[in-house]
Amino acid sequence: MIIIGSRFFTWGSDRAAQPSHCGKCGTVAQFIVKRGMRFITLFFIIPIIPISGVRHLVQCPNCGTRYQATAEGSAVS
Ligand SMILES: [Zn+2]
Repeated sequence: MIIIGSRFFTWGSDRAAQPSHCGKCGTVAQFIVKRGMRFITLFFIIPIIPISGVRHLVQCPNCGTRYQATAEGSAVS
């Protein structure tokens, strides 16, 4: 029996160049920059087909809340 589902995978652990403010826990820190993609999975863990483009995310190092990174409008230095 084959179980098919979908799951969001993330990777990457770079630190953001500039500190950001977390709206959930209030921490101001350098967020962790991640990329993520949703995949069709086999047995919940084996990614086989990507079903979304790459999403750029930033994650609060304190509470782990993820935010969608804005590609434009943020300062680039
Ligand atoms: Zn936080």
